[in-house]
Amino acid sequence: MKIVVLVGGVGGARFLLGVKTALGLPAIGSEGSAESPHEITALVNTGDDVWMHGLRICPDLDTCMYTLGGGIDTERGWGHAGETWTVKEELAAYGAEPTWFGLGDKDIATHLIRSRMLRAGYPLSQVTEALCDRWQPGVRLLPMSDDRVETHVVIDDPEQPDQQKAVHFQEWWVRYRAGVPAHSIVAVGNDEAKPGPGVLAALAEADVVLFAPSNPVVSVGTTLGVPGVRDALRKSRAKVVGVSPIIGGKALRGMADACLTAIGVETSAEAVGRHYGARSEGGVLDGWLVAPEDHEVKVPGVDVRAVPLLMSDVDATADMVRAALDVAGVSLG
Ligand code: GDP
Ligand code: CA
Repeated sequence: MKIVVLVGGVGGARFLLGVKTALGLPAIGSEGSAESPHEITALVNTGDDVWMHGLRICPDLDTCMYTLGGGIDTERGWGHAGETWTVKEELAAYGAEPTWFGLGDKDIATHLIRSRMLRAGYPLSQVTEALCDRWQPGVRLLPMSDDRVETHVVIDDPEQPDQQKAVHFQEWWVRYRAGVPAHSIVAVGNDEAKPGPGVLAALAEADVVLFAPSNPVVSVGTTLGVPGVRDALRKSRAKVVGVSPIIGGKALRGMADACLTAIGVETSAEAVGRHYGARSEGGVLDGWLVAPEDHEVKVPGVDVRAVPLLMSDVDATADMVRAALDVAGVSLG
């Protein structure tokens, strides 16, 4: 079975651990994945990517790679385990901006290699493949695009309250903790971006497509915004099943509500399901998993199923994945 998953960072990576477990693979690492009859491809959001201190940082790709490869700091949910912060302290001592972004020493090695390869002319997809040689995530991680796409957020300028300014998504998310209301969110470059190598083919050949409970605006939404991706999803013979990141009107471990508010979508499982819409009606979903407390949710044209959606551990997450596969009507055989 070929299974394609649209993902962002932390929520996406956790979900992928459950996908591997549901397919009988170890959650961490690549053991058994070459012999497995199943193939997992993750289409990863790159709209959070940013240049900082001359380094290209890909937060969602790295979170997936470290999590699936066993190198993530599980407490923080991002960055390396056992990280140190010497370079960050030195940069701050120079007064080098930005100082609000957590760049760990070990993490910097990843960014150095990536930046060097990008400058030598390798596309991000090949760079990612090279980095994954070390981490062995057991999942094919495909950047949604090799082209530069950066999500920007228009906010009231905290220094000049009567003016607005656009900041990189990372600045809004990490520096301001999404606490400054967003007037709008724009994925700059999305309109001209081409899907990364393998992205459209993966969607065309998929037996099932899942949306992780990732941020519907700045993770899954950005990937859906790459020209050609929606079309490929609509034409795919695979069923498309999404998992709600919103439970009982709340975003879990995140600030997705601030993103939804910015695009005028209510923070509820029903509103997000309707925002994605039924494939039969020009949208992208065939199935939508919601939490038990949201069992009354209705999305026209979509098979809505209520199951526990807390990714408290890999087994609970694997149960969610099995439910999604069940809605899609595919059996693991
Ligand atoms: P990011 O790129 O690191 O922000 O992560 P993602 O976009 O992949 O995922 C963030 C989303 O995951 C948030 O909107 C959360 O609501 C959602 N999320 C986090 N934990 C859980 C969980 O246990 N269950 C569900 N259903 N959603 C979750
Ligand atoms: Ca992200």
